[in-house]
Amino acid sequence: MRAILDSSVFFSDYPVTGDLYTTPLVCEELIDIRSKGKFEKFSAEGLHVVSPTSLNREKVTVAAKKTRDVAVISDTDCELLALALDLDAVLYTDDFAIQNIAGVLGVQTIPINQRKAKRVHWKYRCSGCGRYFDHDGECLICGSTIKRKLK
Ligand SMILES: [Zn+2]
Repeated sequence: MRAILDSSVFFSDYPVTGDLYTTPLVCEELIDIRSKGKFEKFSAEGLHVVSPTSLNREKVTVAAKKTRDVAVISDTDCELLALALDLDAVLYTDDFAIQNIAGVLGVQTIPINQRKAKRVHWKYRCSGCGRYFDHDGECLICGSTIKRKLK
């Protein structure tokens, strides 16, 4: 299976498999040690860096106008989608605009759920009576301070 990697894959530990591809613009986004290290690792496993054809770039732009994502989509996103069309590949990405346009183009996407994993869940508990609330401040029951805790 051919698999195209969005930059978010290089910032995660998501285990991708298959014949790996990415684009030159994604490489430009990999500037920290961690993502560069990931790039080295994938390269050793045979990662290809390929530019898509202009024909499919044009197709992506047309689809982005259709889904009204054309204002939010970057050149990098456009490259990734066009390459997915060129290679008939699946695309690893968490980007909602990319997923939207991919749906119109018939490109299969696999989310790696980076945002979900990073989202912090807070809860609020009264330091006096131990009741839970959805906000901090003063407890309505006992008047003690409500403290924010990580779930
Ligand atoms: Zn209380």
